[in-house]
Amino acid sequence: MNDLKLAGRHKTARSTIEVNGVTIGGKEIILMGGPCAVESSHQMSQIAETVKLAGGKILRGGVFKPRTSPYSFQGLGLEGLDYLVQAARAQNLLCVTEVIDAASLELVVEKVDLLQIGARNMQNFELLKLAGKANKPIILKRGLSATIEEWLLAAEYILAAGNPKVILCERGIRTFEPSTRNTLDLSAVGVAKELSHLPVIVDPSHAAGRRDLISSLSKAAIAAGADGLIIETHPNPAEAVSDGPQSLTPEQFVQLAGELGVVAGAVQRVFTYGGKGDTLETLRIQIDRVDQSIIELLAERMQIVRKIGDQKRLDRVKDTNRQNEIIQRLVNLAVELQLPAELVKRIYPLIFEFGLQSQIKSKLAQDKDREASLYTLSSK
Ligand code: PEP
Ligand code: MN
Repeated sequence: MNDLKLAGRHKTARSTIEVNGVTIGGKEIILMGGPCAVESSHQMSQIAETVKLAGGKILRGGVFKPRTSPYSFQGLGLEGLDYLVQAARAQNLLCVTEVIDAASLELVVEKVDLLQIGARNMQNFELLKLAGKANKPIILKRGLSATIEEWLLAAEYILAAGNPKVILCERGIRTFEPSTRNTLDLSAVGVAKELSHLPVIVDPSHAAGRRDLISSLSKAAIAAGADGLIIETHPNPAEAVSDGPQSLTPEQFVQLAGELGVVAGAVQRVFTYGGKGDTLETLRIQIDRVDQSIIELLAERMQIVRKIGDQKRLDRVKDTNRQNEIIQRLVNLAVELQLPAELVKRIYPLIFEFGLQSQIKSKLAQDKDREASLYTLSSK
């Protein structure tokens, strides 16, 4: 895909998107929730409380709704926007709403933290270009029947127009299968992350169209590498003006959030459930994960050290000052991260010592192999 000049994964590092204190695409799984459509001030303040309690960071709510039927509820417009923004602010959440054209973009852009471009507008190229001029991150949903390439090229439109903050959102694609509203394409998460450096989130609500599948799909999405979830929830789904059948009740939303941390931990990510705060159990899961990473990284370091040993012998290099330089650099980093410098000063000499031993062992093993092969040759 040569045309992914900006969205493509030319560099190894993934992009993280910072938005008013929330980082999307980092280690933390970002949970977003809220109703399909904003209906009232009361509804929004109730659901903002739910999202906050769950540990969500971003409140969603549509005020300009691109409905399949022209006779369906089209959204409250600006009045609804105020309900969304105020409810989010009251709970210290960020907020996102969908824009459907130039006029709606203009109306909301200064008021919300993120903009959403929906599946039906993924290839509205003029809207994509306008989003590229907006100074807000854009959640770009995958089109109803869009290939991953088309989706990434749509993101490229936004990036090419000057906005680097694009978050891809997989929300299910149309297939022959009628038992769900759409088919959640979880492989798209991995493929999009392979091809692009942009964060990828998953919307299980529009994929499934039914609330009984949301919990398992959300967990599967995290396991598949999603950087976040955007889930519909409503104080009373039976009364919702749109997408009630796929909306979680507040209790279901909070319960699901309580279960996400373990799944996140299993794939070296973090999700902090808001509800009861940290429990001993969740903290232990987090610390076990950190310890495992430390040992894995030490093993990786040791392998590199052995290769360095071989290389230094070949090149006859001796650089006595390098260990001091490393320690100095890491001491500076430790101080920056509020770790005691002494920790680095004590741990690193040990790491170096074991590294050296491992280099010597590896050299001896190589010498032995060489001797053995010479012996076999000479005895032939
Ligand atoms: C929505 O998020 O409310 C919505 C309309 O989603 P999609 O564009 O994915 O159908
Ligand atoms: Mn919806």
